[in-house]
Amino acid sequence: MRNDTDVLIVGAGHAGAACAIALRQGKFEGRILVVGAEPDLPYERPPLSKEYFGGDKPFERLLIRPEAFWVERNVTFKLGTTVTSVDAAAHTVTTESGEVIGYRHLVWATGGAPRRVSCDGHHLAGVNTVRTRADADRMMAEMPNVSNVVVIGGGYIGLEAAAVLSKFGKKVVLLEALDRVLARVAGEPLSRFLEAEHRAHGVDVRLGVAVDCILGEDRVTGVRLADGEVLQADLVIVGIGIVPAVEPLVAAGAEGGNGVAVDAHCRTTLPDVFAIGDCARHANRYAEGAQVRLESVQNANDQASVATKAILGQPIDHDATPWFWSNQYDIKLQTVGLSIGYDQTVVRGDIASRSFSVIYLKAGRVVALDCVNAVKDYVQGRKLVVEGARVDVARLADATTPLKDLVTEAVS
Ligand code: FAD
Repeated sequence: MRNDTDVLIVGAGHAGAACAIALRQGKFEGRILVVGAEPDLPYERPPLSKEYFGGDKPFERLLIRPEAFWVERNVTFKLGTTVTSVDAAAHTVTTESGEVIGYRHLVWATGGAPRRVSCDGHHLAGVNTVRTRADADRMMAEMPNVSNVVVIGGGYIGLEAAAVLSKFGKKVVLLEALDRVLARVAGEPLSRFLEAEHRAHGVDVRLGVAVDCILGEDRVTGVRLADGEVLQADLVIVGIGIVPAVEPLVAAGAEGGNGVAVDAHCRTTLPDVFAIGDCARHANRYAEGAQVRLESVQNANDQASVATKAILGQPIDHDATPWFWSNQYDIKLQTVGLSIGYDQTVVRGDIASRSFSVIYLKAGRVVALDCVNAVKDYVQGRKLVVEGARVDVARLADATTPLKDLVTEAVS
């Protein structure tokens, strides 16, 4: 059997970097090789639609660790290299150039590729997604020649991009197929608040609309909606989710379907193969044990720790509390828990004050919080989520009662 490295990490993103860091922190002395499709050392992805896209943070400040860190810790990178197949029995992977790499443990940390629209015109120049540094750089380079932007998708990335573009004085139309933005992940009070904020900043938010096609010869000139209306566009940004990058693993026999399935130790169904981050589907206690795939830096880091512990022979169960953040204009949104299947929302504070929280309950128990410019609620409410607390709803809604007081009053 080939033995080129002890741990082979495929994917040099958040999860892959966190795994390499955790292995060395855990005193792992074996060889670590990270193979990544992008040409850059691991960098933070969230600023791509926020500070980096807005020109407020240079790329060097996005690096998860400087090059010297990796050199000192003897973590080897093979960048600009895509793994195309896995042979789990032989413990090898093959890259697109045909190179075969043997491993003892394989950690699959490949994230996902942005989902693309399938309508006519989707291949035109000027139609972009936001996943990589290259995506952001391409759009930033085009910015001086751009006046009209159409953003397809009212999820976090579409909303964040719209906020940056409107700050630059671009005329932005944001298209959402459903009847409110963030419909899959947030309650109606938050959706309506964000729609109003974007409109107040000049973004033309259109809800319940379908795209017919993207217009242009070589480069995009517009977007035609299903009702025939044509929107002028020099740039289109598509933010409609990702497709997990798991084909080679699934082809090798790993159980898949919306990512690759992992157990509580982040093990796939293949021997000595782990999967972590955006590409890993797992049973999550905050979803009542349902299988979910979380797309967040927190999840990438936590699953990296769990896989590392298993590799070190000190297994721990994955039981992390999900959290996430988003910045749009001067709005700092922080969420904790998973609102999947909630049956009640409570608004805490005055939405008009632009500092409030939406609290999600299921069968009387707190399952998640979305906190808008309300850091105290986020910090203090976390325990309510962790404990699945039953609390008096009137007290929950009363912003003068600190959430930490409710933690002690909670009925289990
Ligand atoms: P990634 O970071 O995507 O890394 C995967 C890497 O694997 C990529 O470099 C990819 O090129 C590489 N790869 C894929 N296939 C192969 C292959 N076959 N061979 C070799 N390499 C391969 N999360 C938050 O918590 N808060 C935020 O505010 C937030 N904002 C975001 C904004 C944007 C624009 C984006 C794109 C994401 C944002 N996220 C945010 C999500 C967060 O960035 C992801 O959850 C996180 O990057 C997941 O880490 P990962 O390692 O699983 O995947």
